Amino acid sequence: MSVLVCFHAHPDDEVMLTAGVMMKAKRDGHRVVLVTATDGACGEYPPGILAEGETLAEKRSKELEASAKIIGIDRLVWLGYRDSGMMGTQDNENPSCFWQADAQEAADRLKKILEEESADVLTIYDDHGGYGHPDHIQVHRVGVLAGELFGIKAIYEATLNRDRFLEMMKAASDLDEFAEVAREFQSQLEEFEMGQPESLLTTAVDVSEFSGAKREAFFAHESQVAPDSWVRKIPEDYFKFAFAFEYFTLRGVPAGIRSNDLFDPWNQI
Ligand SMILES: [Zn+2]
Repeated sequence: MSVLVCFHAHPDDEVMLTAGVMMKAKRDGHRVVLVTATDGACGEYPPGILAEGETLAEKRSKELEASAKIIGIDRLVWLGYRDSGMMGTQDNENPSCFWQADAQEAADRLKKILEEESADVLTIYDDHGGYGHPDHIQVHRVGVLAGELFGIKAIYEATLNRDRFLEMMKAASDLDEFAEVAREFQSQLEEFEMGQPESLLTTAVDVSEFSGAKREAFFAHESQVAPDSWVRKIPEDYFKFAFAFEYFTLRGVPAGIRSNDLFDPWNQI
């Protein structure tokens, strides 16, 4: 048995980039640990979604627990930082937010978890956090520090395969049913330079068999999947196709996709 630790910024981030590899690891008899840095208090949410007196952070903690159950996570750890919001906002100046936290101190906390778990593999984000959100960039910084302090065998940067997504969105923009969603996502991919080009990746894991449960885990984050969200609009078949693979860059090795297994980085596909 190996131990996979996935480090994420907000409740719901665990689904998009790593739900598949976590479900696959669990199915293959490994231990799966999710560490979420912040409370997601700055997210947007549709009106009427909160119960009376409930805060968004409380709602999102329940959603994360439901998602963790669907994915089959063995241990969920919350680091308890406040969501940092976007750059230049007041939330980003809040001393209790993750962006303002001392990276070394946060890394020591994550290192302690890696030690407790005798972790083998750690996933973080790429150096621009996938799309530039401060909490995602901080996950990268803190994750690298913690992984190196602990001396973990493998640190993977989970990311989107920008080339593949652009191709899919271009194709989808010809389809009436979700042309608008596809065009919107395509412009976001370009504007924020989301993810990484395929040439920089090292690992592509086929997670298509878990796409039903991955979709369920998305929906568990009710406050983040508004009725008009693209996640709901994309037909099930297309979702399966779009999220058939999860992509990673293993730090410290040359670029080029060569493996389809986080636990076997050199399996030469
Ligand atoms: Zn996030």
